[in-house]
Amino acid sequence: MVIFLIIMSVAVVGINGWTLWDSYDRTLRATHDQAQNLSISLARQAEDTFLQVEITLTDIARELNGKSPANVPVEALSSVLRGRQAVLPQLRGLFIYDTEGNWVATSGTYIPARANNADREYFIWHRTHATQEIHIGRVIRSRSTGDLVIPVSMRLINTEGRFSGVVLATVSIDYFRQHYSYYVLSERSLLGLFMADSTVMYVRPFPDSVINTSLSTSPLFTHALKSSASGSDTWRSAMDNQVRIFGYARLNRYPLIVAAGYDKQDIQAQWRADNLLNVILSMAMLAALFLLGFFVLRQVRVSMKNHLEMTQLRDDLTTINHTLQALALVDGLTGLANRRQFDIFLEQSLQRSARNQEPVSLIMMDIDFFKRYNDAYGHVAGDECLKKVGEALLHLPHRQSDLIARYGGEEFAIVLPYTGIKDAAKFAQRAVEAVRAIGLRHGETEIAEKIVTISAGSYSCVVKGNAPDARTFKEQADQALYQAKHTGRNRAISSEG
Ligand code: GH3
Ligand code: MG
Ligand code: MG
Repeated sequence: MVIFLIIMSVAVVGINGWTLWDSYDRTLRATHDQAQNLSISLARQAEDTFLQVEITLTDIARELNGKSPANVPVEALSSVLRGRQAVLPQLRGLFIYDTEGNWVATSGTYIPARANNADREYFIWHRTHATQEIHIGRVIRSRSTGDLVIPVSMRLINTEGRFSGVVLATVSIDYFRQHYSYYVLSERSLLGLFMADSTVMYVRPFPDSVINTSLSTSPLFTHALKSSASGSDTWRSAMDNQVRIFGYARLNRYPLIVAAGYDKQDIQAQWRADNLLNVILSMAMLAALFLLGFFVLRQVRVSMKNHLEMTQLRDDLTTINHTLQALALVDGLTGLANRRQFDIFLEQSLQRSARNQEPVSLIMMDIDFFKRYNDAYGHVAGDECLKKVGEALLHLPHRQSDLIARYGGEEFAIVLPYTGIKDAAKFAQRAVEAVRAIGLRHGETEIAEKIVTISAGSYSCVVKGNAPDARTFKEQADQALYQAKHTGRNRAISSEG
């Protein structure tokens, strides 16, 4: 029972533990997939956003290339820029600068006086790099609106292919802020847009102060992106030390990275909440099992104890019964078979004789002048005498099948199955001699030797058909004994039927 309980408990705990572990593992794997899918989707959105800007810049550059921006009518240029800006929600503004960095045109409403952007990183970059590819710069604060924007710019060239200015589009950080806020995520989950050199462009839910900080120590840049352009992994965020499950993707066309990070603690808390009821139910089941086991065990103990007591009692009774049976068949004084056993045995022997046609003999014996012995030496000595006579008879060589019994008082009887008159007579004679051989003094006897003697009468017959019953058999033997008594005692007389 105890082993069963232990096995059951181990099984319940094991299965539950395994199920919980499995569900936890699946939750984590699902989160990995989700993070990766989300990052790929964000990468596509970012790529589309910048591609639209690139197309716009390319169109404008195509318009202006070969011309000096300064020679193009400002109003016409501004209206083109305004038209372009109006159709792209991510655009904060479009600007054109001449070779000196002076503002030539803007999609905005006015050009600030003496405005010059020659100091901006993108302007310097285009002036020094003879390529017409777009340049995405670090986040800056717009000089016209004060907003945080990503500068996306392109070099303008004149007819000789020389640098003739820069066309700039500013992509609003708010555009990404708004897009990232559409996703339903836990508070600490992260969505971020980064430059390939690990500079932060925008990360939700962090404050704008993280913008333009470097994440060069983040596992995203030290490991993840080095092994693949997109994937998922778990690491400790470099920004706030929280462990997150990240999905990340590098944009195909632009040197930008996006990442989506699910907070691991939030996932664990959700998983715990989902499984709490299961765990409580399992524990309750286990407790019920234990309680049941405890009661059954106690019941089993009680019945085992009762059973043992009953068995003990039965054994005791059996022992007592055997003793009683033995007592019931044995004579207490001499240890010979008693009268009861003698009667049973004689009856059985007669029946067997009738069946087998084998002879059977009975010898009846009586101590001579025993009343006088008692009178002379007392009853205690009389009993001692009876014991000695019994012992002498018992020590007579006889078969296993013979029965030597105390018939009653100072009378003894021997049943000899399978024994005819000749052998019975010899046996009776030997019995008389054996008692005489004890040589126990008896002063009052009329026997010359003055010792204790017995007289014996035997009767033998083969029981045929109408068998004589035990009573007749005993009477016949008694008859012989009577003769022995009357012909001088201390002798054996036999008769045959
Ligand atoms: P006999 O048989 O030779 O004719 O003479 P007897 O003296 O033996 O005659 P009787 O059969 O009349 O006497 C039997 C006596 O045996 C009577 C009783 O005092 C004595 N007796 C019978 N049973 C016991 C017994 O268990 N213990 C003792 N000590 N004496 C017994
Ligand atoms: Mg007698
Ligand atoms: Mg007698």
